[in-house]
Amino acid sequence: MILYDPHIPVSLMEFGIQIPVRDSRTIRTLAALQNDPHLGPLQYLWHRDRIVETLDRQDLLRVHSPDYVDRLYSPQLEEVITAAYELIDAEGRYHRYTPETATRPLADLFERVLLKAAATVQCARLALTQGFCFSFSGGAHHAQRHYGIGFCVLNDIVIAVRKLQAEKIIEKVWIVDIDAHKGDGTAALTVGDNSIRTLSIHMARGWPLDGSPILADGTPNLSFVPSDIDIPIESGEEALYVDRLKAGLQQLERLGKADLAIVVCGSDPYEKDELPSTAGLRLTLDQMLERDQLVYTFLHERQMPAAFVMAGGYGDHVWQVYAQFLTWALRERY
Ligand SMILES: [Zn+2]
Repeated sequence: MILYDPHIPVSLMEFGIQIPVRDSRTIRTLAALQNDPHLGPLQYLWHRDRIVETLDRQDLLRVHSPDYVDRLYSPQLEEVITAAYELIDAEGRYHRYTPETATRPLADLFERVLLKAAATVQCARLALTQGFCFSFSGGAHHAQRHYGIGFCVLNDIVIAVRKLQAEKIIEKVWIVDIDAHKGDGTAALTVGDNSIRTLSIHMARGWPLDGSPILADGTPNLSFVPSDIDIPIESGEEALYVDRLKAGLQQLERLGKADLAIVVCGSDPYEKDELPSTAGLRLTLDQMLERDQLVYTFLHERQMPAAFVMAGGYGDHVWQVYAQFLTWALRERY
């Protein structure tokens, strides 16, 4: 099952934000599935094109602090978004941001952020009934309790888990984060909560692990809060990636099974990803497919409902990562 509303853009250009998230990663992925001779005629079976789920403040407050949520619903929203998308650098200059090219105010972005977070909840519900769902949005794994960071305003992953737990639909969850960057927000938000087990395989170095574990003001750097299982991969260790991930999944299973797995399926470990901060990991297209098939098969063999979200993936080539995996996965299912 694919969850993708084509009316919701990926690109941030209309807000004057130059981060290279391109519409191609959803449009071309969907086109590849539609053009597949077997899958094309079956689109009515595998594609849901409406986000019907909605989120309210209570849903956000299960994860984010009252102060932060208040700021999101106040005139300070623009400031919060500027910080979360890192649009001003340390010297106070605009960074990847050209407000003069914007056709919409920055604050309008929040509506889209909420819709995409709601899509993750819907994706999880679909996974629980259908076994597998891949949402063409979601995966804002850097957002922390008190603030947004790393292009992430709301941690939709933990919001979805806590919402479904509050509804008593699920108890235990695995979050399997295979984005190039560490799932640091997710780890910090769920630390000490044994109902949510987290695995993150990521670049050993670079953002968000390039700072000091203790910040200048003496407080701990939340990016260093460990996941249940962290698998740092050094530059040059790409050939070991899939085996290490497999061992990590087996370790996760030993911590106890779960009712649902959310897979933060970033395509940014791909060697053709264009965001400079992903250069520490350069998996080939074949290695990306091996990665995705491993996670899918591991969960499928254990009959664990799997909700995949798109997470990071930058530039004109990453759609191929999603397209090759989803063509294979949907052909397995339909
Ligand atoms: Zn990433």
